[in-house]
Amino acid sequence: MRPEILFPLFAEAIKLEGVGPKTAPLYEKLGVKRVVDALFLAPSGVIDRRLRPSVQGAVEGATVTVKVTVGKHSPPGRRGAPYRITVRDETLDFVLVFFHAHSEYLLRILPTGEQRIVSGKIELYDGIAQMPHPDMIVDPEEGDAPDGFEPVYPGTAGLNQKAISKAVRSALAAAPDLPEWQDAAWLEKQGWPDWNSAIAALHAPESAFDIEPQAPARQRLAYDELLSHQLALALVRARRRRMRGHATAGDGRLRAQVMAALPFSLTGAQDRAISEILGDMGQDKRMLRLLQGDVGAGKTLVAFFAMLNAVETGAQAALMAPTEILARQHLAGLEPLCETAGLRIALLTGRSKGKEREALLSEIADGSIDIVVGTHALFQSDVTFQALRLAVVDEQHRFGVNQRNELAEKGAGADILVMSATPIPRTLALAGYGDMDISVLDEKPPGRKPIETRMVSLARYDQVVESLRAALARGARAYWICPLVEESDVIDLAAAEDRARALRRAFGEDAVALTHGKLKPAEKDAAMAAFKAGECQVLVATTVVEVGVDVPEATIMVIEHAERFGLAQLHQLRGRVGRGTGESSCVLLYQGPLGDSARARLAVLRETEDGFRIAEEDLKLRGAGDLLGTAQAGLPKTRIADLAVHETLMEVARDDARLIVSRDADLKTERGEALRTLLYLMGRDEAIKYLGAA
Ligand code: ADP
Ligand code: MG
Repeated sequence: MRPEILFPLFAEAIKLEGVGPKTAPLYEKLGVKRVVDALFLAPSGVIDRRLRPSVQGAVEGATVTVKVTVGKHSPPGRRGAPYRITVRDETLDFVLVFFHAHSEYLLRILPTGEQRIVSGKIELYDGIAQMPHPDMIVDPEEGDAPDGFEPVYPGTAGLNQKAISKAVRSALAAAPDLPEWQDAAWLEKQGWPDWNSAIAALHAPESAFDIEPQAPARQRLAYDELLSHQLALALVRARRRRMRGHATAGDGRLRAQVMAALPFSLTGAQDRAISEILGDMGQDKRMLRLLQGDVGAGKTLVAFFAMLNAVETGAQAALMAPTEILARQHLAGLEPLCETAGLRIALLTGRSKGKEREALLSEIADGSIDIVVGTHALFQSDVTFQALRLAVVDEQHRFGVNQRNELAEKGAGADILVMSATPIPRTLALAGYGDMDISVLDEKPPGRKPIETRMVSLARYDQVVESLRAALARGARAYWICPLVEESDVIDLAAAEDRARALRRAFGEDAVALTHGKLKPAEKDAAMAAFKAGECQVLVATTVVEVGVDVPEATIMVIEHAERFGLAQLHQLRGRVGRGTGESSCVLLYQGPLGDSARARLAVLRETEDGFRIAEEDLKLRGAGDLLGTAQAGLPKTRIADLAVHETLMEVARDDARLIVSRDADLKTERGEALRTLLYLMGRDEAIKYLGAA
């Protein structure tokens, strides 16, 4: 139950002064549904309306407030010309300019010889200062002259600044004194105000700096948001960890066998990740760990060592991939290693049917199969394991927090390792996966050759085809990617089909295979298989090959309409080549003229192959919400915090939240009680149910 002290803040916005039935929908557009939302409506600018002696020395375009003596009125001499009024401040004459003016009105509010305070933007015209359409014209004798600073709110049509300010002021008046939920020493160290002062300061900026995310009041409020988000995740995590798991610590015998058979040694990052994972598995809590690493960083091998650890104890492990193709690929990769270790591995997908499936299920149930690779078919209700201790889930970014929880509940205490090949900046990883522990593979296996990346205009399509022809003659294999924004986009599909036809004309009917999302699974597989086996040399595809497909012999990647792809996607696509021993190249075939943002994206890609750097740049170019699909990644919808700016705060919030939960799991202390208020204030009511009972 929401604490009573917060009731006034959760009243409908219509309770605010100046918000009525007509304007309420407009406020809703600004995100203001309740009183509390108005409190967190952050100004996007500030206007300095402090009274100054003269417009002299003002920067052109700046807003200036001065006291003037009104001089001569000059009505327009011809149609379309402005009405001009000369005024004088302490040192200078300048001109107030009005277009389409009513002279009676101007004579009334600006009578010659009287004093007025005017405020507005100052401009230069023919060397003379003028103020077109002042924002304010006030008779100083009637009081209420503008002086000081004025917040500027992000607006929406139909609402003016005055009205918004009024609503915000009435929200401020309704704000109760709330108990402090932040650590006092931390607040003092940061020089941050208490919540009530911070809210007040948010709406009373006095400089451009006060609008910046680094302003103390904004930092404090951002930290409140981040902490509430991380606290909610930490509570979910704590509850999961309270559920018993199994301590799984193998004797290392299988791992040693596999190590001895590998033609290479593990990278430092792989070693580190494996020991983090084994450390978790060795405890009788449930592991939920994210293994993050760029394409080709060697995640699968790390996961395999974790699976071996489970099998060494006589238990089983499962590996779940998002698609049939990827499941098969994992199987093919792991089979030889399993053979080395004398293990049984099997594939279970939606296509396993009838007798074959029954036989498989019984071997999984009686434990004669050690490792099962599959799609979500793995989690159908009739699939039972003898002793499942580890579930590895590939390509995590398709799952949200809720699905992660579901998975954890299903595994009967099994540990869960999720692998993601989408490098995510650390901040976002903390935001989206704060309930998980994270291992990062930030080092690639040695000996990978750089991929030569070029930008080529589509106007030079013929040349690209010619150089591709030469490469194919030398035996090269190439991907040709066509954009597909949505599975249902017929125009894009037609374009991919046209491209395949054109390339067939150029290279011969059998040289080119086509695959896209609208094909039947068997057709897709056939195309993939032909390409993998080298029966065809060119694979025209929409982005279906994006996720994890592995054909080491492919060395050329052509991405048509590269300007339409996101940075992360381009990086993933490029990662499909450069996996073997040959020199690889990537051609970003773009349709000019390029916009600024497309140009910036492609430039980053040409500059670096480091997925984490690319992700950081992507974050800067696009902003956090866009990057992952906010809801999908479990990213918080923040009002004050900016994930691209408040990185460090996010880390502190994660650690802070975990510390709080480890000391005061049920939020029962005085600070704990205040933190409950914070959770409710931030609309994280759902987190409260993870308190106590579990
Ligand atoms: P990811 O799953 O991270 O994309 P993979 O696990 O598929 O990467 O590894 C890509 C390739 O690199 C595989 O062929 C794998 O055998 C190889 N590989 C993995 N670890 C190493 C290593 N330490 N040294 C050399 N090659 C490695
Ligand atoms: Mg992989």
